[in-house]
Amino acid sequence: MTSAKKKAKKAAPDSAPLSELLRLPLGKVSLADLDPGATPGYPGKGKDDAPKLTADLGPQLSDLQEMLFAAGRTDPETAPRVLVVLQGMDTSGKGGVIRHAIGMVDPQGIDLTSFKAPTPEERRHNYLWRIRKALPTAGKIGIFDRSQYEDVLVVRVENLVGEEVWSKRYEEINKFEAGLAANGTRIIKCMLNVSFAEQKARLAQRLEDPTKYWKYNPADVDARDKWPAYMKAYEAALEKCNTEAAPWYVIPADRKWYRNWAVAELLRETLAGMGLNWPPAEFDIAVEKRRVAAS
Ligand code: AMP
Ligand code: MG
Repeated sequence: MTSAKKKAKKAAPDSAPLSELLRLPLGKVSLADLDPGATPGYPGKGKDDAPKLTADLGPQLSDLQEMLFAAGRTDPETAPRVLVVLQGMDTSGKGGVIRHAIGMVDPQGIDLTSFKAPTPEERRHNYLWRIRKALPTAGKIGIFDRSQYEDVLVVRVENLVGEEVWSKRYEEINKFEAGLAANGTRIIKCMLNVSFAEQKARLAQRLEDPTKYWKYNPADVDARDKWPAYMKAYEAALEKCNTEAAPWYVIPADRKWYRNWAVAELLRETLAGMGLNWPPAEFDIAVEKRRVAAS
């Protein structure tokens, strides 16, 4: 083998699309085996070049989003939609991803919803009721900051409903998501994988910075006692709901700069793979040129 060939072979895994590198393989999931500090597929050197590499994705993200939006205008019935689901433990950076990665896209093209503990009205309905109401419309990119998965995560860990109820939800969610995909919604589920130690550091930082007190919630420390139970619940959700129609991606989230770049690139790749095009004119261009000139 020539040295060039050897090099090519060695470089192959990292030059694969990020969606392949971060796609959670089907089968048994062990979060302990997934490194939250890893940087798979990152094209730069590290933290210093991340802001530029991330910003460089902006123009393409913008064009693709606008094509998606244009398709929604032209054909609201059949136009595709995109749904990005963000899940992760507190401090994993769901907000940071929305600010730094999703923030590069025109806000008019984004349908953002943050799911909190259900309101009394939401509680009177099935757990998917509020999710359905928040789905992206034609041509939009829906962003879920937390999602239907809270109903098999916090709900399972905190025993908010019995096991006989939450254990059925994995299949219900799979069916729900398969239905969305069949109707033209491209689903990207991102689990922001932060480590126990990094979460501690980020919580401690919040207590050192008066501009971050508002982000600190004393209950988050109680949730740290339940970390193993949360990891088990995450593993179950990742394993049971990792479908072709709605795949899970696990994003290493201990390095904020990697996490933000990775979600932006994953979104760019997904949009780029949707075969979007600028809609053709639905009028006679020559006639309209003459009309404008004469007006
Ligand atoms: P934050 O995202 O930090 O504003 O917190 C939102 C809180 O709402 C988290 O503690 C979630 O666990 C909680 N939450 C979101 N969805 C549900 C749900 N379906 N049932 C119970 N709690 C939820
Ligand atoms: Mg919080």
